Amino acid sequence: MEYHNPLTPNIDQVDYETLKAICLDLQDKVSKSIKVEQTLIQTRNELDAELNRFRLMQEFGDMALRTTSVDAFGEITAEYFSAIFNLPKIAIYRFFPHQREGKLLFAFGFADDISAHKLVIPPEKLPAGAMIFPPIRACGSYLEFLQLSTFVVSPLHNPGEQCIGLIVAGATTEDAKYFDPIDDKVLSSFNVMTRNAGLILQHILTTFQLEQEIEERKGVEAQLRQSQQALENSNEELESKVELRTLELMNANAELQKEIEDRKRIESQLAIRAAELMRSNADLEQFAYVASHDLKAPIRNIASFVQLLQLKLQGLLDEETQEYLQFTVSAVHQINNLIEDLLHYARVGQNDVAIDLVDLNTTIKVVREHLLTMIEEQKAEIHCQVLPRIKANSGQMLQLFQNLLENAIKFRKVDQPPVVRIHATQEDGYYRILLQDNGIGIAPEYRDKIFAIFQRLSLSNPYGGTGVGLAICKRIMERHHGRIWVESEEGQGSRFFLEFPC
Ligand code: ADP
Repeated sequence: MEYHNPLTPNIDQVDYETLKAICLDLQDKVSKSIKVEQTLIQTRNELDAELNRFRLMQEFGDMALRTTSVDAFGEITAEYFSAIFNLPKIAIYRFFPHQREGKLLFAFGFADDISAHKLVIPPEKLPAGAMIFPPIRACGSYLEFLQLSTFVVSPLHNPGEQCIGLIVAGATTEDAKYFDPIDDKVLSSFNVMTRNAGLILQHILTTFQLEQEIEERKGVEAQLRQSQQALENSNEELESKVELRTLELMNANAELQKEIEDRKRIESQLAIRAAELMRSNADLEQFAYVASHDLKAPIRNIASFVQLLQLKLQGLLDEETQEYLQFTVSAVHQINNLIEDLLHYARVGQNDVAIDLVDLNTTIKVVREHLLTMIEEQKAEIHCQVLPRIKANSGQMLQLFQNLLENAIKFRKVDQPPVVRIHATQEDGYYRILLQDNGIGIAPEYRDKIFAIFQRLSLSNPYGGTGVGLAICKRIMERHHGRIWVESEEGQGSRFFLEFPC
């Protein structure tokens, strides 16, 4: 059976008008279908682009997740954003909320180095989602240094919705030819992409930070172990040092103990010896005193009888016998003097001497009177400054100054009359009295010797004496808790120093 379209009129039966109407209808249908086809093609292209974006976004996710450093993330993110959204300039910042600062992670497409610029973002200026800013003034001056004429700003949020970074993507007027302003559909992709980028950045930061923290902790632990080891070592060293030191101290202590014991033994021996010495000294003194005292009477008898003999036999004896008698007389005188001096010496040692306040000026005055003949004979000059009053035994002071002045005049230089100067100073806690003469002086080797008993520098010296005078002076000074010494050079005079406690 022949197919027959009821709508299609039988050509033989249609007239021209109908045919024209049919043609116009057909024409209209064809142009509509072309339009539909074009729309379909455009939709397919858009779908393709969306698919391509979707694929790239997935790829970005895969790539960015594999990055091990924030820098690598920045690089990949900038590349993908630029490629997917056809944006020629991209800057990615990491945001530090406490400082309100964005630190540039990566910049792409900028001619100048923008890292030197600080991106200080007040929190109220942080965009909630991706936002397009046609004129730069619209977002204030904080992004001005990027010199973009149209740009998208989008925050990178972490899963807790906190802003951890910022993406700025845009173009300058010169870039306009490459740049299609983002439409609403693309903007939503941009939002999805920045959200992913935020999550990935957070992931990298925590992993990276964790790794860093682990590394740091490892370093700290190693350092701790090292310092613990060092501490243990130094402890051990210290302990061994302490042990050594303790040992040394113990040894030193033992030595010290031994030394103390030795010293104690020696001290007690010395004390015994000193006591023995004191006793024997006292015995000796007593003996010397008694002996010299008891010798005095017979010697005086011998002297008187020899003198009587001399008188009686005067003119009857030959010259030689007379000379013998004369020797005997002077020997007896010598013995008498020695005994006298010994007695003086022994008396100084006696304990019962009275201590008074003695005016030494008076002492010197009396001594001058005692030595008047000697002073006049020798034309001696005695210059005495004002002397102090001291606590002493007046008799012993007389003896002391008489001995010293007598010596100063006696040991004069042959060609010079003796000149003696006496003066006193008060030092810290004592009086110092100086007797200075212009006599023959004393050689250094004898300075100490002359204070010993019976010490005379030359037995055959023409000055006479028994060698007891200075020993008596020394004894007197010791009895007064003072001291005596001499400074002198031979031929230069002598300086006798006396020191009395105040
Ligand atoms: P003496 O005067 O009886 O010899 P001293 O004990 O007084 O004994 O003196 C001892 C010695 O010291 C003297 O023999 C003398 O050599 C010396 N001497 C003492 N005083 C002086 C002095 N002022 N100048 C020089 N020599 C002195």
